[in-house]
Amino acid sequence: MPVRERRILYANIGKPDYTTGIDCYLRHGGYVALKKAFSMPPEQVCAEVKASGLRGRGGAGFPAGVKWSFLDRKSGKPVYLVVNADESEPGTFKDRQLIYHDPHQIIEGALITAYAIQARQAFIYIRGEFQHGARLLEAAIAEAKAHHFCGANILGSTYSVEIVVHRGGGCYVCGEETGLIESLEGKRGYPRVKPPYFPAVLGLYNCPTIVNNVETMAQVRHVIEMGGAEFAKIGIPGDSGTHIWGVSGLVKRPGLYEIEAGKATFGDLLFGLCGGPLDGRKFKAIIPGGSSTKILKFGERFQGKLADGSVFDWALEDIPLDANSIAACGTGLGTGGVIVMDDSVEMVQALANLNAFYAHESCGQCTPCREGSLWLSRITKRIAAGGGREDDVPLLKDIADQVAGRTICAHGEAVAWPVQSAVPKFRDEYLESIRRRNTGQPSPFSLRLV
Ligand code: SF4
Repeated sequence: MPVRERRILYANIGKPDYTTGIDCYLRHGGYVALKKAFSMPPEQVCAEVKASGLRGRGGAGFPAGVKWSFLDRKSGKPVYLVVNADESEPGTFKDRQLIYHDPHQIIEGALITAYAIQARQAFIYIRGEFQHGARLLEAAIAEAKAHHFCGANILGSTYSVEIVVHRGGGCYVCGEETGLIESLEGKRGYPRVKPPYFPAVLGLYNCPTIVNNVETMAQVRHVIEMGGAEFAKIGIPGDSGTHIWGVSGLVKRPGLYEIEAGKATFGDLLFGLCGGPLDGRKFKAIIPGGSSTKILKFGERFQGKLADGSVFDWALEDIPLDANSIAACGTGLGTGGVIVMDDSVEMVQALANLNAFYAHESCGQCTPCREGSLWLSRITKRIAAGGGREDDVPLLKDIADQVAGRTICAHGEAVAWPVQSAVPKFRDEYLESIRRRNTGQPSPFSLRLV
């Protein structure tokens, strides 16, 4: 039976009569969860989110309730909430659609979260290019204030919180939570060293801070509406709720698909919901969770053991769409941004594109990231230009191995992982591309990326 979407976050998006205004949101059950949250003590709201098993949707997948429990409440400093709307990961476009089509869902989740952690000031840090999104969020906050859902004495209580939309400068590394905090403080967006700068202890203005992604905020609304235990029944143990898969690239029906965690496979998504490859083409590889996750190749087999002890032996099409199964295959669910490549794509060019992006976006603090990303980019560009050498192939892998795990922030892994996964999996194709380009032979690949 064909797999169907299970729309929770996107339940109303796309309906012809659904607008971004608060009246429409209220007609569709909006702010009921906020009222429910305010009927509970803040600790119980935190407990519900913990019980739900909700994992953060920004890429790292850390359980939201556990993150909240790390807040340093003994310091006596003010607590801040920061909503990360700096969606910049290549291949990722889910958060902006929530902002553009259902901003109140995010605001409601943020208000519930702020109440749960007792923050009196919240920020939404939005990517500078999303001007329309920033204006929609500002309008939604103003409407929420007019209805006493936000601002002073919310719903007649003694609790007050302000939400400020802050526009970033369009820098990829400001999506990293400590880089974002630096930027929000008005400084250059350099990621901070952890420890000691874990945001829950030393975050914004060196105060305890929770940074959660846009989609995570929207999910919180549904956690409270359903109750943590009910929410945990959606999906599978260890990965509850739905994931929004943003499929882009060479596939018949690219777009956003909301699917219950673990209840479908990459085959269901790519061949079913997305309609399969373009006519006359075959799928070649995917990057499963935004460009900084490891590449998976069609035709390879994935074998291992899951956390529950069960043994698996899957083709790419068989991999279940949940965080644990995808991690067991050596990559990550990340942001759920699936980039699809077919047999018209030359991997040399695909890697050259990625390497150029990560070299450009390195903030330059760490030598392995700053130099390594640039070397990788120069080598792949040289190969693409017809000046490659056969020993460039092991050299690429060697450089990537020297970057991963040796940097302040995860940008080092983002630089290294595409190379570390693509080079061994497509070694023969890289060597063939080098030979062919150096001898001026015509390319069998029709897509030009660089
Ligand atoms: Fe900057 Fe790269 Fe170091 Fe991150 S890993 S702090 S982006 S140099």
